[in-house]
Amino acid sequence: MEHWDDAKWQLKNRINTLAELEARISLTDVERAGVLLAGSKLAMSITPHFFNLIDPNDPNCPVRRQVIPRLEEGWTAPEEMADPCGEDSHMPVPGLVHRYPDRVLFLVTDRCASYCRYCTRSRVVSGVGEQQLETQWEAAFQYLERTPQVRDVLLSGGDPLLFSDAKLERILTRLRAIPHIEFVRIGSRIPIFLPQRITPELCAMLRKFHPLFISIHCNHPKELTTEVHDALGRLADAGIPMGNQSVLLKGVNDSVEVQRTLVHKLLRCRVRPYYLYQCDLINGSSHLRTSVSKGLEIIEGLRGHTTGYAVPQFVIDGPGGGGKIPLNPDYVLERNEGRTLLRNYEGETFEYPEPTPAPAEALASLREKSSCCH
Ligand code: SF4
Repeated sequence: MEHWDDAKWQLKNRINTLAELEARISLTDVERAGVLLAGSKLAMSITPHFFNLIDPNDPNCPVRRQVIPRLEEGWTAPEEMADPCGEDSHMPVPGLVHRYPDRVLFLVTDRCASYCRYCTRSRVVSGVGEQQLETQWEAAFQYLERTPQVRDVLLSGGDPLLFSDAKLERILTRLRAIPHIEFVRIGSRIPIFLPQRITPELCAMLRKFHPLFISIHCNHPKELTTEVHDALGRLADAGIPMGNQSVLLKGVNDSVEVQRTLVHKLLRCRVRPYYLYQCDLINGSSHLRTSVSKGLEIIEGLRGHTTGYAVPQFVIDGPGGGGKIPLNPDYVLERNEGRTLLRNYEGETFEYPEPTPAPAEALASLREKSSCCH
């Protein structure tokens, strides 16, 4: 279908209202109430491409849970926050988050092709939440120009790949003109929500700005359709290294089996599974969050059992602004000055001794031997 393959058609025909949704799918009471509440929190919007992946007969469909609002979103648990990663308190310029020493997060837009119900930035994303994103472009570029310790810029939002090729090119050109910026990344869910946007023209423009990496966001193997596989192939052919950042979500991808299928499919799409995030403490997310032990169980089920490239790093973004903290199952059983006691993926234990320095007598005797060799 010609229009189906056109990104503009996909955006124009997004499902944004209760009536549009109910014309296509029968909702549960919990979902209907969720959609009615969403207008004042995080808008609902779903591209026809992504909507097509929903199983209309399964209220627990993992694709459905990610984009159709539910009543529970309206309830804020005591541990939840509007800004769980503490981004607003690390902005030297509105829209530019400088939390780590050598890299920044540049929030370039508040719009996405579809909206994820667990979005960490739902306070600003979609334009209906409690805050407005007011990125000060010129001030942000000037801050980057006068801050030489910044060598890495991550463009995010919202979704930067929603911009036109010309606008993106202007941003990338300006960044590349700053000599100390070595590395540019784009965080985008467009390849998953709107693979039609990954045109040969876009790829040809992006490849002019290497080294350029793209972090995609895919949570379930159902999302890796043939269209998505081809779109990711175009980006890979343009020489763009890609990593996937998935969020661990209850009822979506909280099992070893689903994660194993996901990471294997990602590798087939030339995307390296990069991070598996414990879901941030975003307001109204408790129905989608899992225990931390679930994430550790998943890593335990992958590490050693499959290709190392397929195993993402499980991380928690320290609540309130602590940055990414890696979590691993306990492979180190004991460590002292002389040795480390380890266990492998099969539960067997191994001892790794610390290096033994060569004794002076042994070295002296070797020296003597070497002098006889002349
Ligand atoms: S695509 Fe990213 S920024 Fe947009 S709603 Fe989803 S998680 Fe939030």
